Order: sequence, then structure tokens, then C-alpha cells
Amino acid sequence: MPLSPSGLDIEPGRLVAGVDIGGTKAEAVLIDHRGCEVARSRVATTTGATGVVASVLAAIADAHANVRAASARSPICAVGIGVPGAVDVATGTVARAVNLAVAGLPLARLVGGALSCPVIVDNDVNLAAFGLARSLQPPVGSLAFLNLGTGMGAGIVLGGAIVRGTHGAAGEIGHLCFDPSGPRCGCGMNGCLELYASGSGLLRASGGMTASEVFERARRDEATASEIVERFAAALAEAIRMLAQTYDPDVIALGGGVFASLDVFMPRVRAILAQWADASDFVRSLGIGDRVAVVDGARGVAATGAALWAADVPAGTRVAAQPGHEKSTGTMPMRFGSR
Ligand SMILES: [Zn+2]
Repeated sequence: MPLSPSGLDIEPGRLVAGVDIGGTKAEAVLIDHRGCEVARSRVATTTGATGVVASVLAAIADAHANVRAASARSPICAVGIGVPGAVDVATGTVARAVNLAVAGLPLARLVGGALSCPVIVDNDVNLAAFGLARSLQPPVGSLAFLNLGTGMGAGIVLGGAIVRGTHGAAGEIGHLCFDPSGPRCGCGMNGCLELYASGSGLLRASGGMTASEVFERARRDEATASEIVERFAAALAEAIRMLAQTYDPDVIALGGGVFASLDVFMPRVRAILAQWADASDFVRSLGIGDRVAVVDGARGVAATGAALWAADVPAGTRVAAQPGHEKSTGTMPMRFGSR
């Protein structure tokens, strides 16, 4: 079934590649002119400028070799790349990606030179949001993808397009205030949401435990861990409400590494959303809980989003954005689960 047949600008007989490059693996997907996935591949990432370019090319070559029918192994006419870091979308330059150990890398130019085709580069959370919005059946025009990995950040799609903002800060809700009397955040402000609802936040609050350890202890009703998870759930619920009341999207998708333990905290999050709906006619009218869905982290939807976006955005019509757009990522999800 086509991922989304509308808006694709691929000639029949051509393929578009999407790549999601993370610190440990690079995933590539190839789509045809109907938006159908024809092949997918995953290779180990080598970090550093030379390694990142080589990893992107290796993932694409591997996916191309995986195309089942030789007759369908058409030339690649465009490439989209999702990067876990700050990207200057206008030039396709990775301003900074700590996990990839690169800064100021002209990724679009280097990959485009090697493959002789246009290349677009964006933040991976943005592309995951775009891929999710377009992959849903039926596709939705607006979606917020809240990614909880080491940090907290959201990718925003409105009117079918990725929203970045003047400073690339759209969706940077991890550094909105949850508790004004809370500890100082790395951003310089106090009590940011990310200090409570993220992998690094759990690590700090627990004095060094991983997210899965904290959730496992909460599962056993250990008091300290349960308190930490209560605050985690409260901050996550607040983040969801902020997204609902600022962007008002059709779907608020939740994803990232911590959602392997969603049985521990999602009932609490849903209970908080229900309390607000009980207390406020206004909040109830928004039906926030009905729009929340957790994304399965099994396969990368950022690669799909990268391919669909590259197919949608031909060279020369790229959307300009400022550098400095950096959202933390965890595992990029693929399948969209209801709860
Ligand atoms: Zn902060």
C-alpha cells in the first residue's frame, strides 16, 4: 500500500532514498514513485565527517542491493537524511551532532556529489514526525511527535509541512518550565520539563539509575522510584498538554527509548489528563487523551520521513531555517500503535 500517494514528485522508474543516521546505526529506506517502500537496510555507523558520509552511502548501497527485483533497481533521484543534531536545512549542513562527532559538515553537498542527485538534510525528530504524519492510515495533516530519549524534544507537522520556526526552536518544549523552584538545567533556566521527563532527567533524579532501572523499581512499588515516576508522568502530561494547546495537532505521538516501559507510567499520564478534563470544561473540550498515541520503537520512521520529504521537496525549493535546531533522539519508531 502506498505510504502516501499525494504530493510525491518522483518519476516512474526512479527511487528516492531516506536515511536516518544515528550514533550506532544508519538506516536507509528506498521508496518508489507511488511512495511505496521497496527496500530497507541498516548498517553500523562510523562517526566523524568521513565516517558519516561513508555510512550514509553504505546504507543506501545496501538498501539498493536489497531491492528484490533487478528490474525495480532503478536509479536514485533524490536523498533525504535525518541527523540527530542541529541542521542548517537551507544548505544541508550539519551544524553540530555530538553523537556523530561532526560539526559544520556539508552533508548534502558531499552525499549529493557522490550520488549526483539532490540531497536534503534535517533533524531526525522533524523527519520522524513527517514520516508518522504521512504513514498513518489515513495520513494526517498535523502531528506532534514528542521524542523522549536522553532529552525531550518534539517534531511538529502542521498543514502537511514540517514547522521549524524562525530560530529552529519550534517544538523545543523540553526547556519549558515545569517547576520554577526546580534545579538549574543545562540551558540555564530552572526546573525544565526535560529535567523530569527524559532519560537524563531520570538519571539525575535517581542518582545514577538508568530509565529502565527506575521503572523496574517503580513496578515493584519502591517508594523513591515511584515518586520519581510520578513526577516523570506529571511532566510528560504537562508536555502533552503544552503541545495540544500550542499546536493543536490531530495526533500527539509519543516515542523514544523510555516507551519500552510505558506500562509503568502511561496509566499515570492518562489519569492526569483525565483529572484535567474533569476539572476544566475547556480542557475536556480539547479531547487531548483521545489524540495521544504511543509509537512502537521497533523500526525507524525517520528514514521513511526523510524519503517522503525528499520526494516532496525538490532541489531549489528547500525551506530555509536557522542553525541551532537540536532535539535529542532515542530509538526512532516505525509502527504506529494505538496506545
Ligand atoms: Zn532547560
